[in-house]
Amino acid sequence: METLAAYDYLVVGGGSAGSVLAARLSDVDDVSVGLIEWGVSDQHDERALLLRRWPEMLESEHHLDYPCVEQPRGNSHILQARARILGGCSSHNGMIAFRPPARDLQEWVELGARGWGPAELLPYYERLATHIVPVAPAHRNPYLRDVIDAAATALAIPVRERWNNEPLVDGTGFLELGYYPSTGMRSSASVDYLHPIADTRMNLDLILRTRARRLVIDEARRARAVEVECDDGSLRRIEARHEIILACGAIDTPRLLLLSGVGPGEELRDAGVPVVHDLPGVGRNLCDHPEGLIVWEAKAAVGSIAASGWDAIIAVRLDDTRSAPDILCHVPLMTFAEHSERMGFVTPEPSVSMTPNVAKPRSRGRVWIGSPDPERPPLIDYRYFTDPAGHDEAVLVAGMRLARLVADTEPMAHWIAREVFPGPDVQADDQLSALARATHSTVYHVCGTCRIGAHDDPAAVVDPQLRVRGIDGLRIADASVFPTITTVNPVVTIMMVAERAADLIRSRNA
Ligand SMILES: Cc1cc2nc3c(=O)[nH]c(=O)nc-3n(C[C@H](O)[C@H](O)[C@H](O)COP(=O)(O)OP(=O)(O)OC[C@H]3O[C@@H](n4cnc5c(N)ncnc54)[C@H](O)[C@@H]3O)c2cc1C
Repeated sequence: METLAAYDYLVVGGGSAGSVLAARLSDVDDVSVGLIEWGVSDQHDERALLLRRWPEMLESEHHLDYPCVEQPRGNSHILQARARILGGCSSHNGMIAFRPPARDLQEWVELGARGWGPAELLPYYERLATHIVPVAPAHRNPYLRDVIDAAATALAIPVRERWNNEPLVDGTGFLELGYYPSTGMRSSASVDYLHPIADTRMNLDLILRTRARRLVIDEARRARAVEVECDDGSLRRIEARHEIILACGAIDTPRLLLLSGVGPGEELRDAGVPVVHDLPGVGRNLCDHPEGLIVWEAKAAVGSIAASGWDAIIAVRLDDTRSAPDILCHVPLMTFAEHSERMGFVTPEPSVSMTPNVAKPRSRGRVWIGSPDPERPPLIDYRYFTDPAGHDEAVLVAGMRLARLVADTEPMAHWIAREVFPGPDVQADDQLSALARATHSTVYHVCGTCRIGAHDDPAAVVDPQLRVRGIDGLRIADASVFPTITTVNPVVTIMMVAERAADLIRSRNA
């Protein structure tokens, strides 16, 4: 197979983490970096650049929807949205920007991720090039102001103007977002890390419309190159002199490892993939935030004033002894009710909705492949609501009740004509749980599938330096390395992980 090029560092996946990594690794002249990205550049596509247009991205040619396997206790119709474009999901997400709570990072350390605690990781928040600001006054929707006031009264929680400069406990308010209010431009990883250097940094190549199909690992178990499929369908090799860093996200990073023969030996054999290295943790420990849905007929349309359309939140602890919220309830301006509609519930016009999510879910799933064919979709089993103590189900039901309480309270109450889903007759816990689980969605926060762990932890995929255990010259830096899910929306944490990964790589090879 023809070799296309060779670089000191090859970053595979130019998404939220990969864009940060490529920019940081290439800011030294004497190092060459190749960034392999499956999709195209976002640079001239306003759907990707303007935050308000993100729902159009979900309908676009850049969008991937990965189905899941049958979910006995959750919704089997969930499609996991992924963006195949420079900036990855940060080019089509809501850019809700939360610094991770210190408690979450402490938990990472307790799970073996030495060096990833609050003292080491939080300083990287200050280094982010991301423009994080509260929803601008001009973008504050009057309906959301009323929901915020109602939530503060109903739940006895404070209204917060900022979320990232103090510990995250209970509160409600407009969010902080990664965006530029004067232009409406999103502050994606691509916009802030790659656009400023894309045409001027000669030691960085953006290798676009190029998909990694397999890693080339030699007999000494060193990752040497990536086999890629170019836009014209040809197969080539791109070589790495120092290291390959995978940043394809929590679904496609384990998928690429598995297609390369790195993963649980038995699963690989079942899939017909020759085993290169038996690494049991690959694809395991899949974490995600499941979110419920509650829909009301509104007495009036909420209007179009918005930053992203998902601009406000209610964060609640179920118990005062908890150090971080159990429920994060998003308050969108649009109603995404495909799952309740599928069950025959008609969404009226106008409508409003809320989506309470389980902030610290305990259920764990997995991602794997059923075939050596890279064209076949990955197999995803979230195993939502399967934790033995029933924590996730109980929190989901509590979140649905909380949303109802807020809607019954002024000044939100005067917007509401009637509850249409689940509907006022659904009151008992088991009824509420059954409907909420049948129609829940994902907040698209998949992570944890190649988790960091101690050197001697057989379930860990990478060590605390993010090196793939048992393979030289290969690291991972994206959402898949999270030991557990963050309480909050994860994109900021992912970029912080990438910032730190760049430091780890540079210090090792200095
Ligand atoms: C619709 C939506 C809304 C969201 N809203 C928010 C939000 O408001 N706030 C928040 O914090 N989080 C949000 N998230 C989650 C967040 O955006 C993601 O968790 C995060 O962006 C993932 O970052 P990543 O670097 O791990 O992967 P990604 O950003 O997905 O990057 C992976 C990149 O790898 C590329 N790639 C994949 N496979 C290959 C391959 N084989 N070869 C070459 N390239 C490959 C992809 O094209 C992509 O560019 C949202 C997610 C979605 C989908």
